[in-house]
Amino acid sequence: MAADTPITQDVMTIPRKLPEGPVNLVGLTRDGLRDALIAGGTPEKQAKMRTGQIWQWIYQRGVRDFDAMTNLSKAYRAELAERFVIQVPEVVSRQVSADGTRKYLVRIAGGHEVEVVYIPEEDRGTLCISSQVGCTLTCSFCHTGTQKLVRNLTAGEIVGQIMVARDDLDEWPEPGEGSGERPRRLSNIVLMGMGEPLYNFENVRDAMKIAMDGEGISLSRRRITLSTSGVVPEIARAAEEIGCMLAVSFHATTDEVRDKLVPINKRWPIAELLEALKAYPKLSNSERITFEYVMLKDINDSDADARRLVKLIAGIPAKINLIPFNEWPGAPYQRSDWSRIEAFADIVYKAGYAAPIRTPRGEDIMAACGQLKSATERARKSRAQIAAETGTGA
Ligand code: SF4
Repeated sequence: MAADTPITQDVMTIPRKLPEGPVNLVGLTRDGLRDALIAGGTPEKQAKMRTGQIWQWIYQRGVRDFDAMTNLSKAYRAELAERFVIQVPEVVSRQVSADGTRKYLVRIAGGHEVEVVYIPEEDRGTLCISSQVGCTLTCSFCHTGTQKLVRNLTAGEIVGQIMVARDDLDEWPEPGEGSGERPRRLSNIVLMGMGEPLYNFENVRDAMKIAMDGEGISLSRRRITLSTSGVVPEIARAAEEIGCMLAVSFHATTDEVRDKLVPINKRWPIAELLEALKAYPKLSNSERITFEYVMLKDINDSDADARRLVKLIAGIPAKINLIPFNEWPGAPYQRSDWSRIEAFADIVYKAGYAAPIRTPRGEDIMAACGQLKSATERARKSRAQIAAETGTGA
């Protein structure tokens, strides 16, 4: 990966004048929604109240039709329907694994597809969402890494993944039902799907702000985990502007091995990454950083690796997630033997770190960690075409 890989542009500013065609309200921040309503003719002095009302219909009740917004006048609902839409990604396929894991293939603007995975557990339900079509990076153990970056997802396409999963899980309250009455089946979000979230910072930030908003989907920031492969300059910013939990795709204990597994390491080597993590503003014993460590046979799974790992992260409130490698067609690695994984976990645990071994989920439907890839390949598309697709108006 070239050292000067550009960090992406901000694509979600709303111009004063509405662009041609209906504007999708999903993904607009509260200010963006207010601006759009005013640009669409809502009197400025009513805009704040209308924003609050429409926000609740969309994100608290899951309404997609303005006509159902019964606390707005019929005339105003008709006006809204003329100028705006409430659009979420289209579910192209839905697979359910024998272990209950669900994988959705969803289609977004331009016909691109991304994968979303829902993992039900005793005490929680986790949705693994994507932030890019393909990925900017090429981690060699990751199936997504073999798919070139096609484009960043918009904030609407990111939060839309949560909304389509809530549709499928029947999580929206019925008319007359209180928003908190239904048990939460989708309680946690991990930005561990396709793409490097910190290379699509603004859209990920806006989407997570929407997901955390208490008058909508209302997910606690402590139940949202953003996983980065190590985009050092954006790590502190993530704490300040998003404030969710942080995970890092660590996977190796020497630069020599990490350069191969996580090529961004050539840009920000282990020492620099650890400095940034030590300075992570939200760091505390109750808010530990998760170090993700894929277990690859004879690559990074020795006792020496385990001892080096605990030495490297000393002083950082951390937990280590050991991920048995999930093979994919053509993968250049094998999963470590189970006894090796347990021996590794034992060394880490004895050093005082929680070292849960992640149970592979959804393997039968290729939904396990590192197995996601969509058929969308990068067609020759100009910036203008991509801008038109995402409604960013070049
Ligand atoms: S691990 Fe993450 S950053 Fe690396 S290629 Fe896969 S999706 Fe991209």
